[in-house]
Amino acid sequence: MHVAGRFVAEALTEVGRLADVGVNLLDLEHHVRAMIKQRGAESCYWDYEPSFGRGPFRNVICLSVNDAVLHGLPHDYTLRDGDVLSADLAVSIDGWVADSARTVVVGTAAEEDLRLIRATEEALEAAIAVARPGNRLGDISAAIWAVADSYGYPVNTEFGGHGLGRTMHEEPHVSNKGRPGRGLTLRPGLTLALEPWLARTTDRIVYDKDGWTIRSADGSRTAHSEHTVAITHDGPLVLTRRAEN
Ligand code: MG
Ligand code: MG
Repeated sequence: MHVAGRFVAEALTEVGRLADVGVNLLDLEHHVRAMIKQRGAESCYWDYEPSFGRGPFRNVICLSVNDAVLHGLPHDYTLRDGDVLSADLAVSIDGWVADSARTVVVGTAAEEDLRLIRATEEALEAAIAVARPGNRLGDISAAIWAVADSYGYPVNTEFGGHGLGRTMHEEPHVSNKGRPGRGLTLRPGLTLALEPWLARTTDRIVYDKDGWTIRSADGSRTAHSEHTVAITHDGPLVLTRRAEN
C-alpha cells in the first residue's frame, strides 16, 4: 500500500502543478490516465459502479470545482482564475490500494477559500494524530469535527472516510463527526482513508444530473483533503504524503 501511496502522492503533486487558469479538466484526466498506464497501476474509479452513481464511472480521477466537492466527473471545463479544484485519486498497484485527495486554488486565491482549505488540512492532520493503537474510531471523527467547528464550518455525515486495502472501500465507515472514546478500537495493521471535506455554509449536499458530482446544497464553495493512513505499533504512518503540500 505504501507503493501505491507513493504513486498517488506523485500524481496529485503533478495535478497541483498542472492545474492553472486555461487548463481543461479533461487535460488533467488524460495526464493522470497516462501516468497510471506508464506505472502499470490500475484505477479504482474506472468502472466503479456504486448504488448512487449513474455508473459505471469512466474516468480515473475525480475533479470537483468550486461548489462541487466529491466524485466530480471530469468534463469539458476550462479552469478560471480563482477556481477551487479538488482532485481525488485512488489506484491499486499489485493488488493494493491507496486513496488521497487535495484541494488547490487556480490563479488568484480568495482568502475565504484558503481558509476553508486550511480547515480541511488541519482537520486531516488532527485525525492522523489520533490514529494510533488503542484509540477508538470516534476519536478520529471527533478530532475532525473539532477542527471544523473551531473554524465555524458545519460537517456532513453522509460521506466520510473508510477502510481500504485490497479494495477502495472497506469497513469501517469513518464519520467526519463523532464522539471520542466510542466505536472500533484501532489496531496495528488497520489502514484507513481519512477524508474531511467541508462546504462553507452548509452540511447538505445535492447531486448533479450526471449522477456522480456532489455539490454543496447552497452553492457555497468546498474543500477536501484525504490521506491513506496505516495504524502501526509506532503510531500513524501516512502512505500518501506528498513531498510538498
Ligand atoms: Mg478519495
Ligand atoms: Mg476515500
